Amino acid sequence: MSAILDIKGLNKSFGGIHAVKDLTMQVNEGEILGLIGPNGSGKSTTVNLISGTYSADSGQILLAGKDITRISAPDRALMGVGRTFQASRPFLDMSVLENIMIGALLHDSSMAKARKSAEEVAEFTGLTRVRDSRSGSLPVETRRRLDLARALALKPKVLMLDESMAGLNPSEMEAGVELVKKIHATGITVVFIEHVMKAVVSLCTRVVVLNQGELLAEGAPRDVLRNEKVVAAYLGGEGHKYA
Ligand code: ADP
Ligand code: MG
Repeated sequence: MSAILDIKGLNKSFGGIHAVKDLTMQVNEGEILGLIGPNGSGKSTTVNLISGTYSADSGQILLAGKDITRISAPDRALMGVGRTFQASRPFLDMSVLENIMIGALLHDSSMAKARKSAEEVAEFTGLTRVRDSRSGSLPVETRRRLDLARALALKPKVLMLDESMAGLNPSEMEAGVELVKKIHATGITVVFIEHVMKAVVSLCTRVVVLNQGELLAEGAPRDVLRNEKVVAAYLGGEGHKYA
């Protein structure tokens, strides 16, 4: 299996907080990798380091074998590193389609082409019906779809979803899981951050667990969720339900 992302000895501190500690992990081409762990364990910081939103204090990030550690966030996005933000931030006064077009414009040379790509992404993500709605007026579930659509418009090779299902009810979450499967089926590698283990188990082929910025465990979801260290640090009494 070849690694689309190869992360070696990554470190990031904020003042006295060592948010990511000597993290070495891989994301394999074509997989859906779950990235789980307690609040504050470094999941979002890891995504921010991979996408270039934050710069690493030390360590290396390779994308399909190429060192991207010192490359800017916009250039990484153009190279195929996609992500959603835990706190999503569409332009609220712009329409759904306009927000999707911002991403499409990075790849398409004309407005007409970008509009066409954005329309395709809107269709794919189930947003055609609300394409002309003001983005600030959307219900949570639709807003989450827009987060995915904006990331997809950038044509990612690997897409990191940072709690993109937070705040959804169970049936909305099921629809979200189906959409992630559909995205994955187009050939995009997915990194999936989520606290609802049912969603993690139904989507992920492999899971990495972080705790206090460090890799605590990795492996098949069912093995990882039974792992004593993972149960103690994160799942508490919840682990047995999925093992
Ligand atoms: P998770 O996503 O797993 O909940 P985070 O990566 O957001 O964890 O946070 C890891 C640690 O780093 C936390 O202690 C958090 O407070 C800290 N942290 C994250 N981002 C920043 C920042 N921009 N400035 C200061 N501290 C931060
Ligand atoms: Mg987070």
